[in-house]
Amino acid sequence: MVEVLPAIQAAMQAAQKLRELAKKVGDADIRMAIADLSENLADAKLQAADLKGQLAELMDENRELRETLEARSTAAPKYEGSVYVFDGDDGKYCTACWDAHQNKVRVTDMGGRFADMGINYRCPVCKATM
Ligand SMILES: [Zn+2]
Repeated sequence: MVEVLPAIQAAMQAAQKLRELAKKVGDADIRMAIADLSENLADAKLQAADLKGQLAELMDENRELRETLEARSTAAPKYEGSVYVFDGDDGKYCTACWDAHQNKVRVTDMGGRFADMGINYRCPVCKATM
């Protein structure tokens, strides 16, 4: 997935070899430059590991969103009267709960008591009447 960590590790090993060679040469400037290089590589390694973690999180999130999107498109309801119905399911569902949260909430039949007011169902979650 992320090939940058092995590359940084290899660069750190190369810096270690340079450090050993610099000891033989005995030049303080070279040794200082190599110490800086090692420090920068260690920082890069930490940042790369952090990015790898972030990438894994984003890939998980992306997969979940794809699944949600797929479920939404395959489970698209039909508007029937004042409620939603789904294929292969004889229940009646709240339009508001589905539209806002893709929450499939079966509505309660009001039994005709408010039918003359145009109210036949009530959502037990959002309390909408329809
Ligand atoms: Zn509702």
